[in-house]
Amino acid sequence: MHTDPPLDPDWDEFRALGKRIVDEMADHLAGIRDQPVWQPVPDTVRAGFTTPLPTGGRPMDEVYEEFRATILPFPRGNIHPRFWGWANGSGVPVAALGDLLASLINCTLGSGGNAAMMVEEQVVEWLKEAMGWPATGSGVLTSGASMGQLTALAAARQACGAADVRGEGAVLGGVQYTVYGSVETHHSVEKAVELLGIGRRFLRLVPVDDAHRIEIGALRRTIRADRAAGLRPLCVVGNAGTVNTGAVDPLDQLGALARREGMWFHVDGAFGAFARLVPSHRPLLAGLAEADSLVLDLHKWLYMPFDVSCLLTRETGVLEAAFRSGADYIAPTEQGPSAYPVAFSDRGVEQSRRFRALKVWFALKTHGADAFAEALAENLAQTAHLARLIEADDRLELVSRGDLNVVCFRYVRPGADARELDRINRTVLGRLQTRGLAMPSHTRIRGAFVLRVAHHNHRSEPADFDFLVDQVRRLGDLAVRDGGS
Ligand SMILES: *Cc1c(COP(=O)(O)O)cnc(C)c1O
Repeated sequence: MHTDPPLDPDWDEFRALGKRIVDEMADHLAGIRDQPVWQPVPDTVRAGFTTPLPTGGRPMDEVYEEFRATILPFPRGNIHPRFWGWANGSGVPVAALGDLLASLINCTLGSGGNAAMMVEEQVVEWLKEAMGWPATGSGVLTSGASMGQLTALAAARQACGAADVRGEGAVLGGVQYTVYGSVETHHSVEKAVELLGIGRRFLRLVPVDDAHRIEIGALRRTIRADRAAGLRPLCVVGNAGTVNTGAVDPLDQLGALARREGMWFHVDGAFGAFARLVPSHRPLLAGLAEADSLVLDLHKWLYMPFDVSCLLTRETGVLEAAFRSGADYIAPTEQGPSAYPVAFSDRGVEQSRRFRALKVWFALKTHGADAFAEALAENLAQTAHLARLIEADDRLELVSRGDLNVVCFRYVRPGADARELDRINRTVLGRLQTRGLAMPSHTRIRGAFVLRVAHHNHRSEPADFDFLVDQVRRLGDLAVRDGGS
């Protein structure tokens, strides 16, 4: 006789609740359009998240009821068809089944031979293919592009660096590295530079042109001046889709410059790289394949549930050179799981790693890459539709259009000064969001507060953008009246 392990459920209850959850979530997602995009969490609900540690247990269906009452109605909003804030994907439901399976079989993907490891290798190969990446390249899935940038810059320093940074530390021999990108570079690059001990002061943020793309001449001059000052230029970061406006830097020119200078060329393609799947946008991103490393967030414009991102490197072995460890307890053996030649823990910081690849594998096998390319093309067409609506409306100003799926705009009014326009647009955004109507986010473009739409949403329809424009116009008119101006 054996007794049931104390933390395993009653399997019949587990089965029943599991079926109910899938059933009810299918209804929830199918009807998501009728829900508010977002709503504030009431204080009474919030209080429920400040209770002491539960020492005793409860039936699992009661806990699920609590989820339904206190968590489900107060989401971030990105599964809704009118969410276009920041850079969030909408989430492919089939992938969520992959995620559930990943947790149920509970593999960790640091090292060791098993099918899960092979699935991650497979997914990395698929992404190389999708990006036109050389077959000799390598890669690893990460939590996000932030982790990818850090990992890539560590590899760059190991490959191009002048000193044994792993052994001796960052300041050996007085070598001071510099890293280059445009002023539009994402703050995660800044974090990486800080964490690697290069120092934020040595991240050179170069001006951009009117289309928010890096000025190559200014970049060249900055590198020359830094060399003359005895600094060691290490890496150029190119943007394939800047976070503010979706601008794509001239990647082929950046690649050529980096090669000439003996520098590493890293591309931040967090969301924009996926536009390569759309034939009309492939030429714009042709320079991608020249990069030494590339990050791309599958949880953004490949619509995967959070989190999953990928770092690709042009050469095999560069990540291992920066991260491989000689610890006895993970050393290879002749037979058994530890005989397996690939270790993802040698390609980055993390040892224990989720089976992120399974949801990607599940979704790509189910829908096929062409279906994703179609969704991307539709997002691009709808973004163009939105830009046209804005341009056709005399109360709206198209502040930036970018190269991809990002549009920044604002409500305008003749005679209103900059401060007044900022006030009106803050009010408009606040009302759009808190009333659950639509969820653009915001940024500043040349100092002006603007509404920012970044379209990574496979559920949106053209009419959702008609609605957005109507609401911005209506709420703008109201904000003008309320302000008494
Ligand atoms: C989102 C984003 C990042 C950071 O990626 P995470 O997945 O959030 O860590 C970096 N660069 C750009 C351009 C982004 O949009």
